[in-house]
Amino acid sequence: MDYKQELQHFFGENCLLCEPMGAHTTYRTGGPAEVYVYPQTNEEWEFVLKLARTQNIPLRVLGFGSNILVGSRGIGGITCSTRKMNRILVEQDTVKAQAGAPLDKVCELACKAGLAGMEKLSGIPGSVGGAVFMNAGAYGQETADCLEYFNIIDLEGRPATLTKEDVKFSYRKAEGLPPCIILSAGFALEPGDFTQLLAARNHVQHSRVEKQPLEFPSAGSVFKRPVGDYASRLIDEAGLRGLRVGGAKVSEKHAGFIVNFNHATPEDIKNLMDQVRAKVKEKFGVELELEQILWGGFEA
Ligand SMILES: Cc1cc2nc3c(=O)[nH]c(=O)nc-3n(C[C@H](O)[C@H](O)[C@H](O)COP(=O)(O)OP(=O)(O)OC[C@H]3O[C@@H](n4cnc5c(N)ncnc54)[C@H](O)[C@@H]3O)c2cc1C
Repeated sequence: MDYKQELQHFFGENCLLCEPMGAHTTYRTGGPAEVYVYPQTNEEWEFVLKLARTQNIPLRVLGFGSNILVGSRGIGGITCSTRKMNRILVEQDTVKAQAGAPLDKVCELACKAGLAGMEKLSGIPGSVGGAVFMNAGAYGQETADCLEYFNIIDLEGRPATLTKEDVKFSYRKAEGLPPCIILSAGFALEPGDFTQLLAARNHVQHSRVEKQPLEFPSAGSVFKRPVGDYASRLIDEAGLRGLRVGGAKVSEKHAGFIVNFNHATPEDIKNLMDQVRAKVKEKFGVELELEQILWGGFEA
């Protein structure tokens, strides 16, 4: 049996071959994953990790694909989705969630339970695992602020529990995180007034609708904030608002976003990213750093 057959045999309907990634990423475009699986239990993770390790097959983990662009040529090897690991438990002042739970749902349940500390993360369209890995944040709150611990399995299949002190969290980074799968996380929150928390959540959600081009597929801010500035300001002042390549354009509503407004290919988006970066560099001498992650092969 080759490795694909082994995975099909083990995962049954939770193993898909040649799965188009446009269906699993918020850009709504992207080439196929050679093998796409949904591990859920530790045993299933151990199985897939061992297979990848012993047969030297590349393995990636995908949350909600809200920060990833996959090239048209697709991704070789195994792509594991956490989507089916989505349990959330509110226990006193802690919210525990599996990696594939929607971060926004965790925020909602925390607010409703009168627990403060993550209300401003409302509306970030990623999973809990992706939020920890990226240290997602907004409106002055970051995932790491209220993160108490997270459970991982390393590439050798060994489970461990890490606390936030084990990793150096900074702006959209978890430095020193060993190569691993984040399986679940616990957030330690403060008691608060649930009406105020829900109002704060509501405010953030409205502000997102007002400022972000949520009517089009995107993956949020394309570039990180340069020190002391905003990528969107530089892009705007370089006159790039509305710049198009094929079906992709720099959003007119928020210049920090590239939107897929008309069946964009991944290469349309990537070319537009490259043009924006080059023009901002030319005009301001600032090297914009990608916040979004590129996976797989892109056509030249
Ligand atoms: C409209 C819109 C608005 C956005 N607004 C914000 C914002 O305000 N603030 C912000 O920070 N981001 C924002 N984002 C970006 C994105 O939502 C975040 O980066 C989010 O944390 C990514 O989570 P994900 O589950 O989609 O991760 P993915 O995009 O699926 O993956 C991102 C990275 O995390 C890794 N990863 C995912 N899950 C795991 C896991 N379980 N274990 C190990 N590694 C894992 C992946 O391998 C990949 O390297 C926005 C995106 C969109 C589309």
